[in-house]
Amino acid sequence: MSFLDLENVTKIYPNGTKAVNETSLSISEGELMVFVGPSGCGKSTLLRMIAGLEDITDGEIKLDSKVINKVDPSERDVAMVFQNYALYPHMNVFKNLSYGLKNKGESKEKIEKKVNEVAELLEIKEFLQRKPAQLSGGQRQRVAMGRAIVRNPKAFLFDEPLSNLDAKLRGQVRIEIKKLQKQMGVTSVFVTHDQVEAMTLGDRLAVINEGIIEQVGSPIEVYENPATYFVAEFIGTPQMNFINGKIKSNKFISEGLNCSLSSNLSDQDVIFGIRPENLKVSSQGNIQMKVDLIEKLGADSIIYGYDKSNNYICYRENGNTSIQVNNEITLEIEEGKYHLFDKETKKRLN
Ligand code: ADP
Repeated sequence: MSFLDLENVTKIYPNGTKAVNETSLSISEGELMVFVGPSGCGKSTLLRMIAGLEDITDGEIKLDSKVINKVDPSERDVAMVFQNYALYPHMNVFKNLSYGLKNKGESKEKIEKKVNEVAELLEIKEFLQRKPAQLSGGQRQRVAMGRAIVRNPKAFLFDEPLSNLDAKLRGQVRIEIKKLQKQMGVTSVFVTHDQVEAMTLGDRLAVINEGIIEQVGSPIEVYENPATYFVAEFIGTPQMNFINGKIKSNKFISEGLNCSLSSNLSDQDVIFGIRPENLKVSSQGNIQMKVDLIEKLGADSIIYGYDKSNNYICYRENGNTSIQVNNEITLEIEEGKYHLFDKETKKRLN
């Protein structure tokens, strides 16, 4: 059942910037929804409107069936976790964790019990007497999460909480957040510009571009069936390959690639998309590529080069490739694994 609802939500800042444009979305109870998109697309603004830190210009936000547009942030029963942790530097971890409960007037015994429970859950018990400056980035992030958890909120709101951590720690904390969220079953919204983070964390993603949600779906739905050219380009590393051309009598025609299409589409200008892992070297292939660059990552190799009409094409191969720079290779497209986008509307056609 839907628990957090956005209905035609718009945000126009006083300087006239329309950061969020008539956005609607339903998030189920216990779900982890990720807002993902490039910097400046409006994802933090949307999150901050849910938290009550920004006014809503138009539309409605409902939490647990109640409209919260005018509810004070402190009364919304949501807990936010920020990128910069927002811990009180002069307080030790115990005091940072207990601050909100104390303000609520909870008893000393209850506070102690709750803080200890959460500290145990997050494995930060041994740091309770330390100040934030005496903790590593990962430990500080856990305290920040702990502070959200002790409040027992209806929803967690995460605003790029992993951006300050190094790559390895980011991966570890990401797994911890995912496990904790599932264990606690608290409805959560997680904002990130990092599509790998989005894919690995989200039950569903809302892919945002210029204040508009372009697609909502599970990570695999969004990856396998991007609804628009923007989503296709944004989700996936290395990025999907794109070739401009046209459909004529159920064939894709371009300078570098001609191929039959299984979908029945009328003649029109299109953008043809193909993911690097959906190509393979084969004499049956129809993309001729001159290899320009190879990245050997151990588990797989990423091979880049130019096709006949100078499109830069990327192809991914498992393991350590024997292909070399300047080789001429022929690539075959895995059957049916292509994406077609309308050249004007940029919407998916197949
Ligand atoms: P994101 O979180 O996706 O990086 P933001 O929600 O922070 O994007 O910003 C969306 C747009 O709104 C951007 O164009 C940004 O410059 C603008 N913006 C953000 N905050 C303000 C503000 N306080 N006043 C005016 N414009 C703002």
